[in-house]
Amino acid sequence: MDLPIIYHPDYVAPLPPGHRFPMQKFGMLYDMLINDGVGKPEQFHQPVRPPVKLIELVHTPGYVEAYCQGSLDGKQQRRIGLPWSEALVNRTCVAVGGTILTAKLALECGLACNTAGGTHHAFPDYGSGFCIFNDLAIACRVFLQEGLVRRVLIVDLDVHQGDGTAYIFRDDPNVFTFSMHCEVNFPGIKQKSDLDVPLAEGMGDDEYLQTLGSYLPDLLSHVKPDLVLYDAGVDTHRDDKLGKLQLTDTGLFCREMQVLSTCTKVGVPVACVIGGGYATDMAALVYRHSILHRAATQVYQQRWF
Ligand SMILES: [Zn+2]
Repeated sequence: MDLPIIYHPDYVAPLPPGHRFPMQKFGMLYDMLINDGVGKPEQFHQPVRPPVKLIELVHTPGYVEAYCQGSLDGKQQRRIGLPWSEALVNRTCVAVGGTILTAKLALECGLACNTAGGTHHAFPDYGSGFCIFNDLAIACRVFLQEGLVRRVLIVDLDVHQGDGTAYIFRDDPNVFTFSMHCEVNFPGIKQKSDLDVPLAEGMGDDEYLQTLGSYLPDLLSHVKPDLVLYDAGVDTHRDDKLGKLQLTDTGLFCREMQVLSTCTKVGVPVACVIGGGYATDMAALVYRHSILHRAATQVYQQRWF
């Protein structure tokens, strides 16, 4: 069996020309994975739009309804940073369905990768920083509620702090939130994760990987999770438009191998989402995101064949 990869054509919703959010990267990532032979068409799983009641495991009904109907006020809408459209509502919900499916397949197969997800700045009653509904938090709540997992560890290595996720699970002993991010990046006001590791601006591959290695194995033995949700944001790259760290493509590949092999070696399933990544060179950006799927394919083959 091959690594399960999750994708839906609706991950791409139209935005006004020149909008700073790189929406087209999701479709281009699918194309690159197919064209480079990273994934065969039959490896791809298509999610469905989840019932609203699952989104409401994390978000307030008032916010979910107002967002879906396009009746948020101007200030709330600007905080999200993406112009409302029916297509974007569908995209937002399908992407949540994608992370739920990724977690389900990870529990079945040991490892699975989404080609979207990681909307970690979304809070229960408002969205922020391109994030509308918190897919990571919703997936946690769904599987905890179904009794399929007892403890979840969220490993958030996006360059930005997973502030929404940290806030949502601030009093939940069943979900451990770990965020390693650049301390001077957005959000200006940080929340308190169960473990925050703020990194100095300009940190490069070696120091980054050593820091990660000094936390991850201990976290796994301390938290003893039944599932890891991994946010593999590539806005840690030196050429990222928003991130202020200095990782290279090689550094990213080493990071993904480190996270995935450390978790799978101790038998913990990992559900991966791609997280943030911002660049004008779309081909380079899409390649950076695909490093996750390339590394996951290696780890999956080493473990199961
Ligand atoms: Zn980010």
